[in-house]
Amino acid sequence: MNPEAQAAFDRMLAKMPERTREEYLERIVQAKRMQAEGWIYDRGETTHHIVFTGEEATDDDRDTVGGVPYLSEDFPVPTCKVCNTKMALSLQFDIRGWFNMPFAEGSHFLAFQCLPSTIQNMIVVPNTIYDIVTELPYHYWRVGREHCEFYLLPPGSSYLSSDRDSQLASQRLSFYEATEIVMKTNSQDRGCSYSFDYGNRVGGIPGWLYATHAHQVCTCGGKMAHICQISEGTEVGLLSSSGNEINIEWINYGHINFLGCERQCDPRAVIGVMGS
Ligand SMILES: [Zn+2]
Ligand SMILES: [Zn+2]
Repeated sequence: MNPEAQAAFDRMLAKMPERTREEYLERIVQAKRMQAEGWIYDRGETTHHIVFTGEEATDDDRDTVGGVPYLSEDFPVPTCKVCNTKMALSLQFDIRGWFNMPFAEGSHFLAFQCLPSTIQNMIVVPNTIYDIVTELPYHYWRVGREHCEFYLLPPGSSYLSSDRDSQLASQRLSFYEATEIVMKTNSQDRGCSYSFDYGNRVGGIPGWLYATHAHQVCTCGGKMAHICQISEGTEVGLLSSSGNEINIEWINYGHINFLGCERQCDPRAVIGVMGS
């Protein structure tokens, strides 16, 4: 690097919060290591990191864990097909134009989960479809959806505020712009690109282990595009039965990526892919 570029690079680093700087430098080290092993830098991709603010969500907040689900008559709060419990609102947010995603601006993503099933049976959101399948099966959104449900509602279809979620402590989400480093390899998995950004984020491409899912195709012919990634260790609070106390128990979701049909052929044309 020439001295001017080095100085600009150092200024950029100096502006970053310490933890961000450490993560950024670690990613560069990782990328260099991968290059030594035959990987090639592909591109930088704009993503938006999701911040779980810990601040209580109001009834008007549409980017939340818990709080008020925004739905339509056709897609109400789902109930568990095994224990018939109303599912909890694990995540919802509006798709912004500046998210740089193939989905229509103003679409609304929601992920629901049966908490009794999750807590008692340790069932989290399952791998719904194996990554070796390129073309997804007919009505794949019915596969493995006993305890969970995902919607990507098109613009104008999330106007109804449902009852406030009584199971999860509500919190507002916020977003900030970030850049992820995307690498590709020319040996195995020809043509696959991999991201090394494991953070909570919308857009971009999934963390590298599961990037093959990004090559899956919906039955309508649309490509499955990355909606969001929730990293391992992300925690949400449980509400007690009185509805106003936060239990000390937390739920660990594991690492999960959500992908949706870029043509949005059905509001349920979404898959959830769990990491181990
Ligand atoms: Zn259940
Ligand atoms: Zn489709």
